[in-house]
Amino acid sequence: MTVSNLYPTGPLRALDAAHHLHPFSDMKALNAEGSRIIVRAKGCFLEDSDGNRILDGMAGLWCVNIGHGRPEIAEAVQAQMAELAYYNTFFKTTHPPAIRLAELLAELSPPQFKHVFFTGSGSESNDTVLRLVRTYWAKLGKPDKKVIIARRNAYHGSTVAGASLGGMGPMHAQGGLPIPGIHHIAQPYWFDEGGELSPEEFGLVAARELEVAIEQLGEGNVAAFIAEPIQGAGGVIIPPSTYWPEVARICKEREILLVADEVICGFGRTGRWFGSEFVGIEPDLMPVAKGLSSGYLPIGGVLVGEKVASLMVAGEFGDFNHGYTYSGHPVACAAAIANLRIIRDEGLVERVANDIGPYLQKKWLALGDHPLVGEARMVGLIGALELVPAKPERRRFPDPGKVGTICRDFSFANGLVMRAVKDTMIISPPLVLNHEEADELVRLTEKTLDDTY
Ligand code: PLP
Repeated sequence: MTVSNLYPTGPLRALDAAHHLHPFSDMKALNAEGSRIIVRAKGCFLEDSDGNRILDGMAGLWCVNIGHGRPEIAEAVQAQMAELAYYNTFFKTTHPPAIRLAELLAELSPPQFKHVFFTGSGSESNDTVLRLVRTYWAKLGKPDKKVIIARRNAYHGSTVAGASLGGMGPMHAQGGLPIPGIHHIAQPYWFDEGGELSPEEFGLVAARELEVAIEQLGEGNVAAFIAEPIQGAGGVIIPPSTYWPEVARICKEREILLVADEVICGFGRTGRWFGSEFVGIEPDLMPVAKGLSSGYLPIGGVLVGEKVASLMVAGEFGDFNHGYTYSGHPVACAAAIANLRIIRDEGLVERVANDIGPYLQKKWLALGDHPLVGEARMVGLIGALELVPAKPERRRFPDPGKVGTICRDFSFANGLVMRAVKDTMIISPPLVLNHEEADELVRLTEKTLDDTY
């Protein structure tokens, strides 16, 4: 039986409407149109149940860094499944895939990271971060250091802690979030919030909100600052060059931990292994997921720097009363190991830095000349276009998101997956994108902009 025979396509759309509640979706609107059913994928291309070939400009959900359909991962997963499909890493047990993956992560990450705590996803990783930073300070005799400073319009996941750390108003509105002990400050989004300041001036202003917040909350009450090196889901917000050095200075001078959420930026997206290296910071903790397994199986983790890990290995935490049934799931670990070996051995990170990244960036930035585009930006293989009614003004359309949604729908119709965050169009393609595919991505984007204009 082939895989497609397992899921006869005929009634699938009706069955989906009848039984499946999708994440981040208005079910009535979705069912009125019917969902797009992706049936297979290879490299940078998807195929839907109507036989359309679609360029995956989002690498799934910012995760399929090595591209779709790599047989090495299927083989590694099958072999591990046959050998040991499940065992846990609780209660003084472990297994070879968790050990080997931890070793590999220590090898690939910046020198301060020698330890990892495994989770099942990016959201879980950020729940773990919250528990870790508060426990850390409590064990150092500073139990009042609990508040975590995060940023408005950040995305840190969809669990209660993840969504609370995130700064998304619509998420907070459902379920009474954020939970107490989380404080949000400005994001370095010059295009939207920079006003008359230059990007560099605005970068300093946004960073200094951290210092002001620490003053207001009291340094003795603040545990950590968490941020994505480059905000992804908020709109691929590439901070001005002045932003991160100033944040790093403040974290160093104040007694707070710096957490870099690497769930999107990690594993090559920016042309460095980690976004922190790209922006030049040395965080204490790095939550990761997505590109860790290129999405082939669910797995995440928190890379724990020596400042915190040394306390844990010295027994200062005692039992860390936290963990997930699937922390270090052996089959997911096997997928992650095979994935990281592909990224390393095929030089994908270097390729993003020196070859496909600069190649695509040049063409992408030229889309800034389109009459609908107020700003084009891209680093590594992550980019955005700001759609505006009247350039060169940085003014938004009166009905935020309407034009972006139209543009996204045109991109789908043209055979390209782009994402719209209100009126910001986003791409984050697989790192294996070749020159021809990059040309196609730009051509389809241009056609999509023309159709929308
Ligand atoms: N952190 C960041 C920066 C993310 O972009 C995401 C997901 O998009 C998450 C955390 C949550 O990851 P997950 O969806 O795997 O729970």
